Amino acid sequence: MSGKGYGFATRSVHVGNEIDRHSGAIRSPITMANSYALPYDPSELNWSSAEGSIYTRNGGANQRQLQEKLASLEGGEDCVVLASGMAAISGTFFTFLKAGDHVVFGDNTYIGAYRLLNELLPQKYGVETTMVDSSDLEALKAAMRPNTRLVHIETPGNPTLKITDIRAVVKIAHGAGALISLDNTFASPFLTRPPELGVDLTIESLTKYVNGHGDAMGGAVIGKKALIDRIRADAMVNQGGTISPFNAWLISRGAATFPLRMRQHCDSALKMAEFLVRQPSVRFVAYPGLESHPGHSIAKSQMGGGFGGVLSFGLHADHDAHNRFVSNLKLIISAVSLGHDESLIAFLGEDDERMHLFPKEFKGGFFRMSVGIEDAEDVIDDVRQALERTGLPTDGPR
Ligand SMILES: *Cc1c(COP(=O)(O)O)cnc(C)c1O
Repeated sequence: MSGKGYGFATRSVHVGNEIDRHSGAIRSPITMANSYALPYDPSELNWSSAEGSIYTRNGGANQRQLQEKLASLEGGEDCVVLASGMAAISGTFFTFLKAGDHVVFGDNTYIGAYRLLNELLPQKYGVETTMVDSSDLEALKAAMRPNTRLVHIETPGNPTLKITDIRAVVKIAHGAGALISLDNTFASPFLTRPPELGVDLTIESLTKYVNGHGDAMGGAVIGKKALIDRIRADAMVNQGGTISPFNAWLISRGAATFPLRMRQHCDSALKMAEFLVRQPSVRFVAYPGLESHPGHSIAKSQMGGGFGGVLSFGLHADHDAHNRFVSNLKLIISAVSLGHDESLIAFLGEDDERMHLFPKEFKGGFFRMSVGIEDAEDVIDDVRQALERTGLPTDGPR
């Protein structure tokens, strides 16, 4: 079903799902096959084509169903789904950049994007790059050059939760004749639909909120068909970043409940942020849903329905006490990733290699927490009891 005229939750359930013609099952089956039957005379087929069914690296049934769902949810014309969020990011860069091109990128991009733009592309492929504070629009404007081909930003940024004004950056990029790519993983299409704001290439790590169950990796790029077709050819068919049919199916399955889960993530994360700011042992809380967050009003203007499920915070405590606090948690799990059903926390320490780029309060060491869809009271009580057991003061029992 095309989804036209239906609301977001309805499209999350129905778009991309089909009644199976062979069995009559009302759920699309998982098509685990590398190859598809060739026509009577296949000699004129384009073996690198991503149209039709030839070979699973050129695209498969489950991947196409997920692409249809995501293009609809994100509000874009077309979508390509790849093996991971990083496959989507690298696929975008390697498709649109060549030696001699220039890229302007935000100083709060995901570590993998930072590596590609700060090290790999300039050092090995002759691509010039400039990193700027993407919340400083004058700096961004000043960084643009005649050969600037791409502006890459991420908002809210991982792990600082820095907010960038999407509409303003679109204007600057397009004014200079550059494309803009945006990593929308933290907001997800539930909160922000960048194609509607003019973004050319919207990137999602499906590993996070869209799948939501922490059991499959995937990535997507959404945009105009002419741009997405190029990523499909370069990053998928020729570079081989194809997603497995099983993972595409799992992510489609997870996506059916995606809006329900996002409401809970946003609601619980805001409650957690409000709890944390009240604790005398908490040094700072970075969450765009707090009015005290420097990006709050811009976040409000481009995120509808909440501010996401991730926050960062620091404690008035030494290095060892941070680790003891984590070991005292009973429910929240110490692990990387985010957007899973379970709550996760990671101690990112005092000297993460990008610390010089982070706001100064992060320098004392910090946690990134992904608030899950458990009962908010249980997750908050877990933090409270762990602070107490670590000997750190709280505002008292619930
Ligand atoms: C996790 C993440 C990625 C990378 O996605 P993978 O699926 O792990 O490759 C990219 N951007 C952001 C903001 C992320 O949180």
